[in-house]
Amino acid sequence: MAVTHMTEPHTGDDEPLLSVRNLTKHYPITDGLLATDVGRVRAVDGIDLDVYPGETVGIVGESGCGKSTAARSLLRLEEPTAGTVVFDGEDITAFDTSALKRFRRRAQLLFQDSDSSFDPRMNVGDAIAEPLTVQGMRERTRRREIVTDLLDRVGLSAADADRYPHELSGGQQQRVALARALSVNPELLIADEPTAALDVSVQSEILALLDDLHATVGLSILLISHDLGVIRQLCDRVAVMYIGEIVERGSVEDVFTNPQHPYTRALVASIPTTDPRERGTAVELTGDVPSPSNPPSGCRFHTRCPELIQPDGYDFDQRTWRRIMDLRQHLADGTVDIETICHQSVMDHDDDTGPDQRSETEPTAKLREEFALPEQLEDARADSILESALDCLVAGDPGRAADLLATEFATPCEQHAPTLEATDAGQDASCLRHD
Ligand code: ADP
Ligand code: MG
Repeated sequence: MAVTHMTEPHTGDDEPLLSVRNLTKHYPITDGLLATDVGRVRAVDGIDLDVYPGETVGIVGESGCGKSTAARSLLRLEEPTAGTVVFDGEDITAFDTSALKRFRRRAQLLFQDSDSSFDPRMNVGDAIAEPLTVQGMRERTRRREIVTDLLDRVGLSAADADRYPHELSGGQQQRVALARALSVNPELLIADEPTAALDVSVQSEILALLDDLHATVGLSILLISHDLGVIRQLCDRVAVMYIGEIVERGSVEDVFTNPQHPYTRALVASIPTTDPRERGTAVELTGDVPSPSNPPSGCRFHTRCPELIQPDGYDFDQRTWRRIMDLRQHLADGTVDIETICHQSVMDHDDDTGPDQRSETEPTAKLREEFALPEQLEDARADSILESALDCLVAGDPGRAADLLATEFATPCEQHAPTLEATDAGQDASCLRHD
């Protein structure tokens, strides 16, 4: 079974409530007075997603992967660059203003930072009733009844209606924001990092509340979080997002117990564990998400992937291989400060020996140390190419160094994204196939 295919596994033959295809949001990068278009930030780069009635679907990924942009674009709070969003059978990308207004009632957004979305002069009751007022509900007593009921549903008391947002704790504010979102009886709630600003204990209360609403009201939820623990607690299915793309999707059970994409594996492995037997087995997920204005070629995760495929004929220790490729990346990014490193090397040398014993290889040894590379690679051929590249660097020719490394140490991951295959063979099995 291919994990990346478009139609998602889902039991039951009902139609999705929300069906997103090829959703794309690019921001232009402009330069100069004439605002010339010089590139694009590919914040969301062609994603597919379905949410079925009554389902809780998660989008997970590190900060900067495009999750919030996806949420805003699919609600048309920002105009998507491309793609279709079908809600209850209708294409919302074709909606006019009034149809869009009706849609926004049926699909509500809950943010991380509800504090900033409240009018500080409006009390809690009025804030919750505001969408009803906007809808044209004139009867004050009816609104009050609804507010009282909503406060109860989100675990607050009727008396809280007279309080003001600044008097509330973060958790209480999030409950009020939820009550307000629910006031218009939405079918879909898009919760974007709804608990990220809260203490852990309060976080689980809010998640439990969402779970409860999902069960009792039959609300469909699209839950966006960088926190796999949050996703695991609440979601039926999950899509894993990396630099504007969905790299893997499936049931939470499958994705968490048998992740197929190396990015998912790295995310899952980075979940803090209290089980000492599981510690130390984690693959490292280091560095930041690269900018979507210039996404890496091939598999977008290749610049950080701990499972990067090696060229034919090599069998490096995987960590060493990663570091060789990190050096290549630093050269490509122009972030190697060769002068400082070489200067440091001379200083170190002066410290422990006399200047007479200075040897020719010192600066390259320092470079190896700097990039956490072994003093010598086991493979003699690889080592001599690495050494030549380091020599070029020391000689002030980073371009040639980069070329040498790129020719010898190429990975198919630079060219192609992996095709994911579900395997029964467990985590050690290679699930990657490059076409
Ligand atoms: P996430 O919610 O996963 O943290 P975002 O959707 O906020 O990610 O951002 C994804 C990427 O898009 C980031 O690199 C961010 O800097 C960029 N981005 C978001 N909004 C804009 C914008 N209005 N203009 C340009 N770039 C943007
Ligand atoms: Mg976000």
